[in-house]
Amino acid sequence: MSDSCIFCAIATRRAPARFVYQDDSACSFLDINPLRAGHTLVVPRRHVHDLTDDGAAEAVAAIGRALHETALLLTTRLDAAGISVLQSNGAAAGQEVFHLHFHLVPRHPGDGQLTDHTPDEGARLALDETHRTLRGGAT
Ligand code: 5GP
Ligand code: ZN
Repeated sequence: MSDSCIFCAIATRRAPARFVYQDDSACSFLDINPLRAGHTLVVPRRHVHDLTDDGAAEAVAAIGRALHETALLLTTRLDAAGISVLQSNGAAAGQEVFHLHFHLVPRHPGDGQLTDHTPDEGARLALDETHRTLRGGAT
């Protein structure tokens, strides 16, 4: 764990997040600046910087179930027709949070290209409603 890492803080419940899925080795939560409604980050609890870091192979293996369960929730609860997976390694690739993570972005026919990093303002304003829907209506 890294004391200064926001995703470590979220994974240990020291910082808040809208959780979508959790197990012993991984968790997923809504991105605060969603590219589309339901944009979710899947994160290993173990702190590794990126795919080149020591321990990355184990960290990737540890998030397999979380990737699957989160993808299922986005499909069944948000009616996603598809899911784009994005992942950045290093500042040159646009990585901003240096704790390995995968972005799962729900997609719908005709919803355009994910060409830039401009958040969807409507999706940002609807984060709490999206979270309720993903949790099956639970508050
Ligand atoms: P990266 O560019 O590193 O692949 O993506 C980092 C993502 O983390 C960005 O999409 C950003 O909006 C998201 N993010 C940064 N800080 C927080 C936070 O405190 N909580 C949540 N839920 N997402 C965050
Ligand atoms: Zn971390």
